[in-house]
Amino acid sequence: MKELNCCFICGAQNVDGIKIKDELLCLSCEKELIITFPLDVEYDTYLLKLKAILFS
Ligand SMILES: [Zn+2]
Repeated sequence: MKELNCCFICGAQNVDGIKIKDELLCLSCEKELIITFPLDVEYDTYLLKLKAILFS
């Protein structure tokens, strides 16, 4: 019972979202990912965190 549904990108707790492996991506971060373009600085941050999860 230690599951907190904590988003692995923004750290928000008790949020709904999608599971990537055992990590939660909240809906707002999912939207950010979809609307964020490659030239945006934020995009690199997201990608790095995603890669860390997906390829760990
Ligand atoms: Zn989030």
